[in-house]
Amino acid sequence: MGKNKAIFLDRDGVINIDKQYVCKIQDFEFMDGIFELLRHLQQLDYMLIIVTNQSGIGRGYYTQEDFDTLSIWMLEQLKEHGIHIEKIFYCSHAPEVQCHCRKPNPRMLCDAQKEFNIDLTSSWMIGDKKSDVDAGKNAGISKTIFVSKADCSESYGADFCVENIRQIQHIIEN
Ligand SMILES: [Mg+2]
Ligand SMILES: [Zn+2]
Repeated sequence: MGKNKAIFLDRDGVINIDKQYVCKIQDFEFMDGIFELLRHLQQLDYMLIIVTNQSGIGRGYYTQEDFDTLSIWMLEQLKEHGIHIEKIFYCSHAPEVQCHCRKPNPRMLCDAQKEFNIDLTSSWMIGDKKSDVDAGKNAGISKTIFVSKADCSESYGADFCVENIRQIQHIIEN
């Protein structure tokens, strides 16, 4: 059986608006155009996998249970829009712990690669921070997309930079 290809998605700033430590359903606001984008990527036979740093747990800002509750709700919303997320990989540690999973470490992506038999050279990493771009590169993913909150004058060495996630579909198709 051939290997799978995947789109690795950061959560905050890609799936939902990054309001810093989002942990409640009422604060979770999907990005404009995210449902259309993910449905389209799915039709191109990409597995969709979320890789997210959730240091808010380790810092004590919210609990593991808060995160799980929000994740279940988010997956339900996505499912209602016809989108299947293969799995959410997350790091719950505070930066001081110096764990091996927090992006820019490639651990979460490497674990996903093994679990889902993913060909990283035909996969993409999409994120809105330097640590997302670096995690993708550290894992050996061939293409990274930086989602900029401002303009693309700084894109941290990503292969592509977009100011609006609606631009991503065109990049991956070509
Ligand atoms: Mg982010
Ligand atoms: Zn970690």
